[in-house]
Amino acid sequence: MRFGTIRDRFVLVRDGRALDVATASDGALPADVLDALSRWDEVRAWAPAADWSGAVAVTEADLGPPVPRPRQVFAIALNYRPHAAEAGFTPPDAPLVFTKFPTCIGGPRSTVRLPAGNVDWEIEVVAVIGAGGFAIPHSRAWAAVAGLTCGQDLSERVGQMRGTPPQFSLAKSHPGFGPIGPVAVTPDAFANPSAVAFESVLIGAGGGREVVQTGNTADMIFPVDDLVSRLSQVCTLLPGDLIFTGTPAGVGNRRSPRRFLRPGETLVSRLDGVGEIRQTFVAS
Ligand code: ZN
Repeated sequence: MRFGTIRDRFVLVRDGRALDVATASDGALPADVLDALSRWDEVRAWAPAADWSGAVAVTEADLGPPVPRPRQVFAIALNYRPHAAEAGFTPPDAPLVFTKFPTCIGGPRSTVRLPAGNVDWEIEVVAVIGAGGFAIPHSRAWAAVAGLTCGQDLSERVGQMRGTPPQFSLAKSHPGFGPIGPVAVTPDAFANPSAVAFESVLIGAGGGREVVQTGNTADMIFPVDDLVSRLSQVCTLLPGDLIFTGTPAGVGNRRSPRRFLRPGETLVSRLDGVGEIRQTFVAS
């Protein structure tokens, strides 16, 4: 099952059409995505027999972020060994967690202003929490994930590295720095939700294309279900919370020479089975 939002209303998406769940259920289910995720078992039980006669044609440009206003956004640093190596760190023995402040979340198609400094790309698989909970056992952690979506953990590196301790959360939370989408896809819709491939392509202002990152979630140090279980031992996970699960090697900050996003460039990020998001960058 594929779900998302159109103008902030919760929709299911299938074969190029979107179904407004509140309308199609005659108000039995909510229009707000956080409310819908808090009643995720009901949504899942209703969906197979839903009447799609009122569905409307939809393109990725119509869709907003699958969760426009999450209450908590967790993000994981150094969750792929080659990225830990390129960043000069030994792999951690517990997840390294920071937050992206929720106002940075954006939709699948967006224009992002480049603040002063060096703005870098980090393609990431983003887990969307369903009804949530506290101390979720590892064996039930996948069941707590409503869906996976594609995201970018855009990062301004000068601010990120400033000070001791460094300012990860602030420097990764500029407006539009957390684009996600185009939809979230339930784990059961993947051949293997623990092995999902992704890539990002940078399109230059002149049209040149370069694949800048490729990866597969099978290479995570701490897989999605492990992250859900571990985070929930400390924080109560709320419906619609997001977990940015880390990026693989290939970020611009670790290239030689270093390479950052420039005005006029477009970053296309794709997650198998989910779709693509597309960000164009402009000067501030
Ligand atoms: Zn990241």
